[in-house]
Formats: sequence, C-alpha cells, structure tokens
Amino acid sequence: MAQEMQLSVVAPDRSVVDEPVQSVIIPGAAGYFGVLKGHVPLIAALKAGLVEYIDSGNQRHYVSISGGFAEISPSKINILADAAERSQDIDVTRAEKALENARKALRGEISGVNSVEATAELERAMTRLKAAKSASDGR
Ligand code: ATP
Repeated sequence: MAQEMQLSVVAPDRSVVDEPVQSVIIPGAAGYFGVLKGHVPLIAALKAGLVEYIDSGNQRHYVSISGGFAEISPSKINILADAAERSQDIDVTRAEKALENARKALRGEISGVNSVEATAELERAMTRLKAAKSASDGR
C-alpha cells in the first residue's frame, strides 16, 4: 500500500481540501515540485498554478491556487492559498471573462488597472482555465 500524507488546502474563507493523498505536485515560486511521504520539513512560497494530487483511491485531482504558502512536514502538507478552487468548482465563463478583462487592461483599454494587477489577474484566470481543462481531459 502506498504511503499516505494528509493534504490540507485552505483559502481565506474555507477549507478546500482535507484528505489523505499519495503524492502532490505544488506550484512553488521557483517552479513546480513534487512531495511524497517523508519529505524534509520545508516552507515554500507559492505562485498561481495547479496543485495536482493523487488520492488514496488512485484518483488524480487538480486545485487552482492564486499563490500563498506551503508548510511541508514528513506526513502533512498545509497549503494556505490566497484563493483556491477544485477544478470541478471552477466557473469557466467567469474565468474567460476575467481573462478578457485582464487582456483589455494590458492593452490599455480599461483605466484604473495597472499592469501588475492586470498580469496577476491574467495568471489567475489562465490557471483556473487550465485546471478546468486538465480535469475535463482526465489528464
Ligand atoms: P474575478 O474577476 O472573476 O472576480 P478574480 O481573479 O479577481 O476573478 P479572486 O479575487 O482571485 O477573483 O477570487 C475571489 C473569490 O472568487 C475567491 O473565493 C475565488 O475562489 C472565487 N473565484 C474567482 N474566480 C472564480 C472562478 N472562475 N470559478 C470559481 N470561483 C472563482
């Protein structure tokens, strides 16, 4: 039987994941990295990206996060995310609108949004769309 760890993903307003997992891939600020049971303790800053994990029944899951921190110990992973959604809970139409807004802002067609904010919005929207697509592709 595979060795399991407990994965917790918490957004400011709710718990998004709390379950035993076999492996997790995490979007670290310096790049994606994988975690298995027994990982050395670590605190890592995260960027907008996909948390991908395999549950105890060998099912793959995707969670979109918008940045945050991960606290890793040998048998537990705590992810504190700025925002987080399971792939199946993502509103694709809303993410597509957010992507279009971000593109307009970057083209200077919307006032009051600076390029740093627009780039961050673009990354959040693209990550959400990627999570929704990864899940529907069954990848
Ligand atoms: P929008 O412009 O559509 O509000 P945003 O990137 O500004 O997008 P956030 O500030 O990151 O949104 O998130 C606000 C809340 O809305 C969070 O609880 C987040 O999980 C949720 N959320 C944002 N976009 C989506 C989406 N496409 N599907 C599901 N939940 C979403």
